[in-house]
Amino acid sequence: MKYDCIVKNGLVVYPERTLKADIGIARETIGKVAPPGELEGKEEIDAQGCYVLPGVIDPHTHPVYMDNISDLSRTAVWGGVTTVIHYAYARPGDSLIEKIEQYREEGESTSYIDFALHGGLFETMKQADEIPEAFRLGVTSFKVFMSYAKLGWMTDDYAMTKAMDIISSNGGMAAVHAETGLAIDYIQDKLLAEKADFAERFLETSPDVAEAEGIFRAVSIGKLMGCPVYIPHISSSEGLKVIRFLKTNGFKVYAETCPQYLGLTWDELKARGPLGKVGPAIKTENDRKALWKAVEEGVIDTIGSDHAPKDKKEKDDFFDAPYGSPEVETMLPVVWQYGVNTGIITPNRVAALLSENSAKITGLFPQKGRLDPGSDADMVIFDPAEKWIVSARNQHTNATYTLFEGKELLGRVKRVLSRGKLILDGDNFLGEKGDGRFLKSKAGKWPWR
Ligand SMILES: [Zn+2]
Repeated sequence: MKYDCIVKNGLVVYPERTLKADIGIARETIGKVAPPGELEGKEEIDAQGCYVLPGVIDPHTHPVYMDNISDLSRTAVWGGVTTVIHYAYARPGDSLIEKIEQYREEGESTSYIDFALHGGLFETMKQADEIPEAFRLGVTSFKVFMSYAKLGWMTDDYAMTKAMDIISSNGGMAAVHAETGLAIDYIQDKLLAEKADFAERFLETSPDVAEAEGIFRAVSIGKLMGCPVYIPHISSSEGLKVIRFLKTNGFKVYAETCPQYLGLTWDELKARGPLGKVGPAIKTENDRKALWKAVEEGVIDTIGSDHAPKDKKEKDDFFDAPYGSPEVETMLPVVWQYGVNTGIITPNRVAALLSENSAKITGLFPQKGRLDPGSDADMVIFDPAEKWIVSARNQHTNATYTLFEGKELLGRVKRVLSRGKLILDGDNFLGEKGDGRFLKSKAGKWPWR
């Protein structure tokens, strides 16, 4: 048979092997993966000299700041991302179900790529009662915050236990921003009273031990309720010690870190003031190294971007500046630069960390996450030999800055296919608004491997 399109001569990457192969695409899915030259296609895409990776799945995005769902999905494509999982935040006073429906409608009409949703609970005692209905809508993972009490975001242990009980009895997964929130608030208040320089002392307000404590408490409550817990954005060596302990002792925990923690340290970011303010804080070189070790050893399951570009400038007041940065477009090349080019991980591990593992944990597998026959033809053609320099000017987010400004990276996204359609071809963006489909998740199936 003649395929609609073949991607030929590339190095096709799976978590367990790399094949020199051609991929035949029939409509929206992969039809066959075969040795070079065996397949025929009406159209051909030459991937000579490039890796063909499964489309990146970003399990951690926030489309409510400078990039809305449409903008976020567009900057994501430039970074090789073909599926995003947004946090649908239900702020105090909001209905979780209304928020989920609103995100879904906005996504279906404006997203360039497929998307799923996590719920986000801020008024957890009340909103937790809406969780069973959310499952019927295809949302099966729900985040709470153990921190940010002053912003009105914090969920206390009682409410978190209730939410995990309901999530668990429906077969889903909790996600927890794990930090000892009230201790951090006290430390901040004390520094405020001292009129301290917050940029200088930022790490004191997001201590590694607070992350470790939060992780242990969240996953322990999960165990009491039989609820798997996903820990996003792990940033510290201390946090990883707890993750290792929990994993070796049979607790149901999934661990995520982000490119900003793998590529940067607070020492080098400090000069950029509020731009580098993200929560949890980007910490020390020791933490960065510990994170890579955990990635290498498989203690970290997924890498997500935590893309949350906020409107702020270097000269703004540090304490008042919001947490967050644009990350989705640089995620793959940054992980490649600091992980693959340094020899810490292989391209195969990239396929696992940035695609297959996230698909399995959220239940999108095998439709997403792997270049197998029958799966959606979502793929990234990545040139490992192209050098480029990151600058806010060559990024496609609405943010006017990037934390990786001036960094030279080796390896660049060249082409992106979403369900068989070429949506990025070099410098040409070919995606269409509204092409993205809503994906129902089935998170929390344990064990996920
Ligand atoms: Zn986040």
